Amino acid sequence: VFDTLNLVNAEIIAVGSEMLTPAKIDTNSLFLTAKLNELGVELQTKSIVGDVPGLLTDSVKLALQRSEIVIVTGGLGPTEDDLTRESVAEALGVGLHRQDEIYLAIEERFRKLGRKITENNRKQADVINGATVLPNPNGTAPGQWLEFAPGKAVMLLPGPPRELEPLFMAECYSRLRTMLPPMAIATLFWRISGLGESQVDALVAPIYKRYTNPVTTILSSLGDIQLHLRAHAATEAEAEAILVPIAEEMAPLLGEHLYSRRGQTLEEVVGELLVSRQETIAVAESCTGGLVGARLSEVAGSSRYFLGGFLTYSDAMKRDLLCVSAELLEEHSAVSEASAKAMAVGAKAKTRASWGVSVTGLAGPDGGNELQPVGTVWIGIAGPDGECKAVKYQFPGDRNRVRTFAGQYALLQIYHHLRV
Ligand code: ATP
Repeated sequence: VFDTLNLVNAEIIAVGSEMLTPAKIDTNSLFLTAKLNELGVELQTKSIVGDVPGLLTDSVKLALQRSEIVIVTGGLGPTEDDLTRESVAEALGVGLHRQDEIYLAIEERFRKLGRKITENNRKQADVINGATVLPNPNGTAPGQWLEFAPGKAVMLLPGPPRELEPLFMAECYSRLRTMLPPMAIATLFWRISGLGESQVDALVAPIYKRYTNPVTTILSSLGDIQLHLRAHAATEAEAEAILVPIAEEMAPLLGEHLYSRRGQTLEEVVGELLVSRQETIAVAESCTGGLVGARLSEVAGSSRYFLGGFLTYSDAMKRDLLCVSAELLEEHSAVSEASAKAMAVGAKAKTRASWGVSVTGLAGPDGGNELQPVGTVWIGIAGPDGECKAVKYQFPGDRNRVRTFAGQYALLQIYHHLRV
């Protein structure tokens, strides 16, 4: 199906030497890519080009040869190193002309702001021959749109995101929709936890490798995996229909590890389950220092089910706030099954929550021993029926990784208890 579809190639060129330093990142292309995707267009390539004469012309020339949609952002300012207008004109092999109305509009804008216009602002009134001027109510440099061949367009957009975004939406979005063949993208966005990236890939690759449409991507961050499938078709319904049988085939392979079919975070899924069960939760955290509570409270509306937590790093705090007995801590140590259980029970009892969840472990780099190496983490759960258990994990990596994994697996444990 994919090969017979008339796919449109789009590409973005971000202009500006500052984005070739560690200080500044190109974010405009992320916004533009999301909008192009909405229109059914995938990006083939993007680049960042410094303010170097000649370089931009070459990049634009190449882009015009290989892509139907070329978006050039930035470099529309008044200074010497703002080269976008001239470079695109040169790449197209056409000239520029100065439009007095634009200069007058800039002058008016400056007057209102109480600033004086400078001679070099004149340059911002230069328009590529054949281009449509796109008004920029939020800045001085207008954008430009030029269809350089039937169904092919190049756009020049201002660099500042607060100018580019409204301008693109007001002037380019519907122009593109009119110009492009009907094309829709349907996406499947799954989230998986409890398996490694290679395990997930080994399970689902035999299925997704059979297709070029949809396109599949697996993204992995500490303990959390995202599976994205993107199907292209002329209509949204057709694109959705491509995904259905593939999803049906893949889901059973991932089993209980597939925690969301709608791209929600683990804390969102846990929140939904608590709301539907009309239950509440409290946390007691040692080595994660509040990470679990922070994630639970990140969800809007979490006050309906998240009562609060205890950040008990020292043994004294575990005793005083969670009523973990001195004898228990003495006998088993703070990083133990018994302590994890007692902390979860303490959090639940003190808050009268339905669920108490605890994390206690050794995040390192110091403090490990042969029996309990760095990375040892106990997660305790105390439930509404008085049941209580603790699970031991051995997480890899440095302190930050261990803490992140511990937070993830605490939420994962809660999730598995709630979904039954
Ligand atoms: P102006 O009319 O304001 O001069 P311009 O089109 O010349 O606009 P630039 O001078 O290239 O734009 O960039 C202005 C500012 O916009 C930069 O300092 C930067 O902060 C921001 N900017 C430029 N390009 C991007 C980008 N791709 N992503 C995010 N921010 C950007």
